[in-house]
Amino acid sequence: MNRVIIFDTTLRDGEQAPGFSMNTMEKLEMARQLARLKVDVIEAGFPISSEEDFEATREVARQVGTLDNGPTICGLSRTGLGDIDRCWEAVKYATRPRIHTFVATSDIHLKYKLRKSRAEILTASVEAVRHARAYCEDVEFSPEDASRSDIGYLCEVLSAVIEAGARTINIPDTVGYAVPKEWGELIATLRAKVKGIDGVVMSVHCHNDLGLAVSNALAGVMNGARQVECTINGIGERAGNASLEELVMALRTRRDFFGLDTNVKTEEIFKTSRLLSHITGVHVQPNKAIIGENAFAHEAGIHQDGVLKEKLTYEIMRPQDIGRATNKLVMGKHSGRHALAARLKDLGFELDEGALGKAFKRFKDLADRKKEIFDEDLISIVKDDIAQVPETYTLDYLHSISGTGIIPSATVRLKKEEQVFQDSGVGDGPVDAVLNAIDAITGVKGRLQDYQLRAVTSGKDALGEVSVKVDFDGSLVFGKGTSTDVIEASARAYINAVNRLVHPAKGRDVQEVGP
Ligand SMILES: [Zn+2]
Repeated sequence: MNRVIIFDTTLRDGEQAPGFSMNTMEKLEMARQLARLKVDVIEAGFPISSEEDFEATREVARQVGTLDNGPTICGLSRTGLGDIDRCWEAVKYATRPRIHTFVATSDIHLKYKLRKSRAEILTASVEAVRHARAYCEDVEFSPEDASRSDIGYLCEVLSAVIEAGARTINIPDTVGYAVPKEWGELIATLRAKVKGIDGVVMSVHCHNDLGLAVSNALAGVMNGARQVECTINGIGERAGNASLEELVMALRTRRDFFGLDTNVKTEEIFKTSRLLSHITGVHVQPNKAIIGENAFAHEAGIHQDGVLKEKLTYEIMRPQDIGRATNKLVMGKHSGRHALAARLKDLGFELDEGALGKAFKRFKDLADRKKEIFDEDLISIVKDDIAQVPETYTLDYLHSISGTGIIPSATVRLKKEEQVFQDSGVGDGPVDAVLNAIDAITGVKGRLQDYQLRAVTSGKDALGEVSVKVDFDGSLVFGKGTSTDVIEASARAYINAVNRLVHPAKGRDVQEVGP
């Protein structure tokens, strides 16, 4: 097989990392984009870990897993039979469901975490795979912490689960300890020693603790792995997972070397990366390979002359290969509702009438303040308006005063259902004053732990996007908001955090995080 299966775990491994949690609506939106990106498998969640994760996985299976030529929808499960039942309950709605079951095989995990013997783990693994196979054909097995497991024992477990019916064997470097040569050799050894391995797909799941996740994954591929587990923007536990965009573009750009293809529609990469950033409020660093702000920029210094003369001098990939168009004017003040709906559809957002109405109103407001409206602006508007969280409070009116030699003060009016509340506050600066006024209305005092402001596009009239991390009496909550007025963007971000506090994500029932 000369194709590599792209298994995306943005919604499971990625989503579990602090600051990246997504609710069902957000996961669905991301899953739809992953389907447009043409990943082969979406790992949508770990259904037994919480009620919310169960629901999100089920909805992804129902709504994205039933699309024509859509992706396989996978759920994660420990080896307990109840875990597997719960996983199946969530993924069974997909046209192509997959159950991914895992258990640790390293002595260190066996001794300290599971308190089980090697023989007990072997039996549990085989029973789990058999149980899962009774539900569906497509079963994946992962020996967690494989890189630190005894190789003889690992071969024994893997041979047994293949015999029991596992179709994909995934080897995780759970703690990001491997280096490429050694990791490649491990994959080659398993391919030589595990019984029945030729009849199944071998997969790798690499973590980036030493910055080697993509290199390790490619070393796995060079030694016969034909599935890679990865995430958009490389998000995930600790330093994250192998990043999808880097893996896919390495395989594509160096096809001469690897001789392998993927199904990924690379022109959707940039949009997918930006969507994830907008959903989570976490942006990638400018020098991030493939998708960072500077990844294709040759404006600086000596490169420019070479690029102008011949693009191939410095460009090994073209920006359009990942769907990265230069900012172009897409909409103006006189664009109508139809034009907005059509453009949003191109960008991947299909809004219902209510959401479109709200987006159109924000668009008109923005067009009054900003001459040129770019795709990124539109994405920001709809991201703000798609109900990521029920809007208990909405901003109705804001007035702030600041300047040299005066005490910053603000008056804020918030709507809660049909009621209107108004209060005012003073502070060290205008943002502080606004936030104090909001606190006075809601009656909960928040402490700002992190505040980030970034311009969505270039230009003095650019939209400002504010991300906040607020500590409300020990509960850490994230919020985002955008406006051409940075004070208003700050207020919107803070209100978003308050709304998330009112509708908190349910806690996890399972502490384990998976491979
Ligand atoms: Zn992982």
